[in-house]
Amino acid sequence: MPTLVATLAEVSARVAGTSLRTAKVRELAQALRAFEPAEIEIGVLYLSGETRQGRIGLQYSALRAAVDVSPAERPTLTLGDLDAALDELASIRGPGSTQRRIQRLRDLTALATPGERDFILRLLLGELRQGALGGVMIEAIANAAQVPVALVRRAAMYAQRLGAVAHAALLEGAEGLARFELTLLSPVAPMLAQTAADVADAFEQLGNNEVGLEWKVDGARIQVHKAEDVVRIFTRNANDVTAAVAEIAAAVTRLPARSLVLDGEAVAVTATGRPHPFQTTMRRFGRKLDVAALQTELPIRAYFFDCLFVDGHSITDRPLRERLEALAQVVPESLRMPRLVTASHAEAQSFYDAAIDAGHEGLMAKSLDAPYEAGNRGASWLKIKRTHTLDLVVLAAEWGHGRRAGKLSNLHLGAYEPATGEYVMLGKTFKGLTDEKLIWQTQALLQLETHRDRHTVYVKPRLVVEIAFSELQVSSRYKGGLALRLARVKRYRLDKTPSEADDMNAVRRIGMGNRG
Ligand code: AMP
Repeated sequence: MPTLVATLAEVSARVAGTSLRTAKVRELAQALRAFEPAEIEIGVLYLSGETRQGRIGLQYSALRAAVDVSPAERPTLTLGDLDAALDELASIRGPGSTQRRIQRLRDLTALATPGERDFILRLLLGELRQGALGGVMIEAIANAAQVPVALVRRAAMYAQRLGAVAHAALLEGAEGLARFELTLLSPVAPMLAQTAADVADAFEQLGNNEVGLEWKVDGARIQVHKAEDVVRIFTRNANDVTAAVAEIAAAVTRLPARSLVLDGEAVAVTATGRPHPFQTTMRRFGRKLDVAALQTELPIRAYFFDCLFVDGHSITDRPLRERLEALAQVVPESLRMPRLVTASHAEAQSFYDAAIDAGHEGLMAKSLDAPYEAGNRGASWLKIKRTHTLDLVVLAAEWGHGRRAGKLSNLHLGAYEPATGEYVMLGKTFKGLTDEKLIWQTQALLQLETHRDRHTVYVKPRLVVEIAFSELQVSSRYKGGLALRLARVKRYRLDKTPSEADDMNAVRRIGMGNRG
């Protein structure tokens, strides 16, 4: 039976109405299972608050005018009806199109019950769009299709549309999902790393086997795609920066391989080849660039550490060991990240010391057996840094005093606790913030305000900030039982979403490292 818009509106309201992740997943999975095959793609979109047609360009007032008709008594509209109506709406163009669109929308809403009408309007206004739903929807698809979540997550990384993933999962199961692959020239979210306290902790977390160790260079993540003579370079947020780092593009163009996707880090270097600080590297990625002048003044180089696609095929599902062999065949050593494979803690420690001496942040320790998990902060890559830093989420900020009066200054910092689904506070800091940053953060935080008291503005947990600190102490001051000591802001991480910040599991690991 075709699904009614009314049914979907009810599901959507129940999903929005509960904060329990498991309940959301259950509701969504049930809805997915009930879809007819042809409805799956649009159903997934509607449940995420989106439409196939995208924005149809009607203002709020026009939409309100369109619902000024008496509603239907019984729900009859199906998802297919709604999609067809939106197609028609989107195709109305030219002079007088606003009036004609309003008329078409009136015809549609005359067929809708009050509940459906509310849903359709909010859908068109973008009010139902729930960014955080992505991960929940992936779990729901896995649940509805009875396949492992990891398979759905993997397919979702490579697919342009989540609806297509749902369709494949529900109709073809794991086999259908395996068809989704990295494609040339379309960037995919990079694999991310968790934290290890030190070399010994990294070995322990990776199972005390032989591990791959690499320098951790503090620059900008780049993903380089090559398809014959076309080379494109993307940042971790999929921005195309090919022109800004033209010398890296030229170096990849010169490589003999005809099709490639490489993962690496770009860093500005001094005349002697030492890395510049992160902020200096970022000058190469600014808005308005005189690229030619910057190339002489501030040369940038790439250190490639992974190969995801070669000889016309994606190799993301192969173990790192094999991908590194592929990398070594297509990229000369001068463009590769220095690395060492060892099971010896002593060797690892001296490699770490050498990386620090060469001006780098520390090491990355990687499991040689793991596939490339696009977009995932898995436990197969671990960063080992000299100074402790954590990516935390700003939960609130206190008004400053004196010179800082009128500006939000002392930040309340927290990490997500997966066990309870809540953010746990770990400490406060106002250190490391320039005047410019204070002004910026005041504006940014006020836009996220949820409520306030006399001294403090509380905010939605959205902003990620990298915090350097001396140690994590056991403390009864905060619920999480841990408190940061000598915390200072290193930098805002606008490239990271809260789900990419360190969670309490990562925090506890560092806490344990300190004691051990
Ligand atoms: P973080 O941004 O602190 O979570 O650390 C992860 C980042 O380190 C990656 O996104 C890369 O940009 C960077 N990085 C530097 N060296 C490496 C390496 N050898 N392997 C992977 N990532 C690296």
